[in-house]
Amino acid sequence: AAVIEVEDLHYTYRDGTRALQGLSLSIPAGSRVALLGPNGAGKSTFLLHLNGLYLPQRGKVRVMGQEVNARTAREIKSRVGLVFQDPDDQVFSSTVGEDVAFGPVNMGLSATEVERRVQEALAAVQMEAYRDKPPYHLSYGQKKRVAIAGVLAMGPEIIVLDEPMAYLDPQGKDTLLDILDRLHRRGATILVATHDVDMAASWADRVIIIKNGRTLAQGDPSLLVQED
Ligand code: ADP
Ligand code: ADP
Repeated sequence: AAVIEVEDLHYTYRDGTRALQGLSLSIPAGSRVALLGPNGAGKSTFLLHLNGLYLPQRGKVRVMGQEVNARTAREIKSRVGLVFQDPDDQVFSSTVGEDVAFGPVNMGLSATEVERRVQEALAAVQMEAYRDKPPYHLSYGQKKRVAIAGVLAMGPEIIVLDEPMAYLDPQGKDTLLDILDRLHRRGATILVATHDVDMAASWADRVIIIKNGRTLAQGDPSLLVQED
């Protein structure tokens, strides 16, 4: 079954930029999806619809069968974890531990459950040793892992990452790929927006190519060979 279904989605910014112009796509449960497309194709604009930060101006977005709208956005936000491209947009608490606890605390979970989730999420990204450190001392790749831990601690069924490999060194990329593999084995659906065709071809089991706010192609990674 599809966990994300998008039908004829349109989104125009205030300045008149038509970022999405009839995007339609479908993402199967448990898949590893690479969302590809040139700069300005509408990838980020689309991703912001998946956890209710943007609401469809026209068309529909369904997440696990539930239509995204003003009434459902809040609930959907806890089921879809969005990791922004820049961790500085997402990591802001005075310690790593507090930052990761922010989501679970906001969800109203008990102190014991918050503690359990923070420990588990920090372990998943191998950042336990940094728990009491301020995030601004960390490297870019470490901050990125803290941002991912913050998302994991909310227990999302779907994890969405915008350009997760950007600015990471080769070792940082390997670590991130390991993290994604582990999450996938636990049953999460993972959607990654990327410019990196090689990463998409080697990592994804499904590929979606968008351009000018529309779907150009979606299917098996083998369709990448036919691109350009
Ligand atoms: P990406 O690497 O995801 O393609 P972009 O370079 O398109 O990112 O954009 C980087 C950031 O700048 C995004 O948060 C995007 O929303 C914002 N942005 C892009 N174009 C504009 C614009 N014309 N006006 C305002 N903000 C923009
Ligand atoms: P991508 O992530 O694929 O690079 P974006 O969704 O960031 O694409 O951008 C799609 C289009 O919307 C681009 O033309 C971009 O310049 C524009 N855009 C993005 N954010 C904004 C914004 N905040 N205001 C106006 N235009 C924007």
